[in-house]
Amino acid sequence: SPQAAPDYTPWALRTLQRFYGYDSFRGRQLEVITAILNRRDVLAVMPTGAGKSVCYQIPACAAGKGGRPALVLVITPLRALMHDQVNQLNARGIPAALIDSATGREEHIRIEQEIRNGAVRLLYVSPERLTSPGFVRFCQSIRIRLIAVDEAHCVFQWGQDFRPDYLGIADFIEQLPERPVVAAFTATATSETRTGIIRNLRLRDPLSAAAGFDRPNLFFDRRRVNGKTERTEYVIDYARRHPGESGIVYCMSRDRTEELAEALKDAGVNAEYFHARMDEARKTRVQDGFLNDDIDVITATTAFGMGVDKPDVRWVINDSVPSSMEEYYQEAGRAGRDGQPATCTLLWSEFDFELHRRRIKDSVGTALADENDRKRAKEAALARSRAMERYCDASACLRGQILRYFGDRPESASCGACGYCTRRQAAADVRSRTDGHGGRASSRTVVVESMVVDPQLKTRIAAYVRNIYAEQGHGYGVAKIVNAIQGSRSLNVTGCGLDRVDGYGSAPHATSAQIRAAVKQLLSDGVLVHGEHKALEPVDPEARPRTS
Ligand code: ADP
Ligand code: ZN
Repeated sequence: SPQAAPDYTPWALRTLQRFYGYDSFRGRQLEVITAILNRRDVLAVMPTGAGKSVCYQIPACAAGKGGRPALVLVITPLRALMHDQVNQLNARGIPAALIDSATGREEHIRIEQEIRNGAVRLLYVSPERLTSPGFVRFCQSIRIRLIAVDEAHCVFQWGQDFRPDYLGIADFIEQLPERPVVAAFTATATSETRTGIIRNLRLRDPLSAAAGFDRPNLFFDRRRVNGKTERTEYVIDYARRHPGESGIVYCMSRDRTEELAEALKDAGVNAEYFHARMDEARKTRVQDGFLNDDIDVITATTAFGMGVDKPDVRWVINDSVPSSMEEYYQEAGRAGRDGQPATCTLLWSEFDFELHRRRIKDSVGTALADENDRKRAKEAALARSRAMERYCDASACLRGQILRYFGDRPESASCGACGYCTRRQAAADVRSRTDGHGGRASSRTVVVESMVVDPQLKTRIAAYVRNIYAEQGHGYGVAKIVNAIQGSRSLNVTGCGLDRVDGYGSAPHATSAQIRAAVKQLLSDGVLVHGEHKALEPVDPEARPRTS
């Protein structure tokens, strides 16, 4: 008859208290540890800082079968992390070692000897190490209890961080005389990535555990912006309204970090830029300045924050949309590490997604040899960008969207503490206040965020585009149409005779954002199409001049 699995809870708790000094497990740590000890594979999806390492470090403390030492082998691509963790473990009294390209021959022999003696509980290696025949022979001669694969999404060949060496992990495991438990850890969690991890690491009926993504002290917000000037103005305005608070503005390019820092300084904000191309001395000066509160605001590329753990960052603004939710959440998540309230604002416009698409077309997957692989890589990247588009556009709680994206469970449909929830609540309040006064609710209820497009505006734009096409035989880009329909007298407009086409200046009071939103809808309604060079053209063939 099947035996009930032993309950490892009391032992695990004692071990946590003894080596780490914590009273209880977080999130799904205990569940993961229990699975591992019961010899079940695991796919754990947890954000950085949620406490992944404890999940494989505690099992390393369990006694070996029959007194024979068993090792936990940790595979990680991050060398700096490897060194940090080994130092920390040894300081806690859990003996650990690492082998990397810098490990000398004698040191190597000493480590192997210590592992044979059972004096080392965890060994950290990079995935490249598994391809060394000498290392494989050594692993075949000892008993490995658990293989912990950190950053496991690197095994997914169409993902952002694919590492070819990761594909060798499954074969390495099959060469071992006894299959160890395999536990994969990642913060990346699209269902495609998960499937890829399970398949490529050949996990067996793994426990899938996603947890720890919620950051209750973070207020999430999103703002639609129209053009660079509006982005800059928003950032400046925000920084000025929060004097003395530490903030980070993440930017798409190095040039933008410099430009924005300049604009902030001109507006009297104590700001500096940071990006990877700066010399080391300057980087250190800026990082230290930020840590010591000598600098309030940093405009940075995503490189900033890796080595800087400043707990009291009160706000993060993303000047434009990152290429994936993983990237966005990592950047936004640098706010409020101290648990105090902090705000994360994402600025977005259609242009950001156009840029994503262009970048994906030009550069994603170019290193892959196989045509199909390249295609899959591009598709996966497009899917990541679309997930961000939904986050910007969808009528749903922002926190809930983030948690569901990562496979975590939101506590309720509405968190009450994000831009979407609070605006919706405010709109409902206005409605309930005005309802008693003659039902003028709809005109007073302004939902600021999602732009409501005036149908008349759409009709005017469609007519104007059709007239242009009929008269000139081709279309123009959206920027020109916006200016022309607003009645601009600039040479840009009059130079191509757009002021002489019927419909010119027919929307003098519409804002550029409104017109662009209307154009976007006309495109998705199928009324307009993009011609060559993204020129707007009518879809209606009657409007097209006959070719004779
Ligand atoms: P990850 O590997 O997921 O980035 P770590 O394992 O380094 O995260 O844990 C992040 C921090 O949280 C560390 O300082 C760790 O000691 C702490 N931590 C982990 N588990 C717990 C727990 N159960 N209770 C309190 N703190 C914890
Ligand atoms: Zn919400």
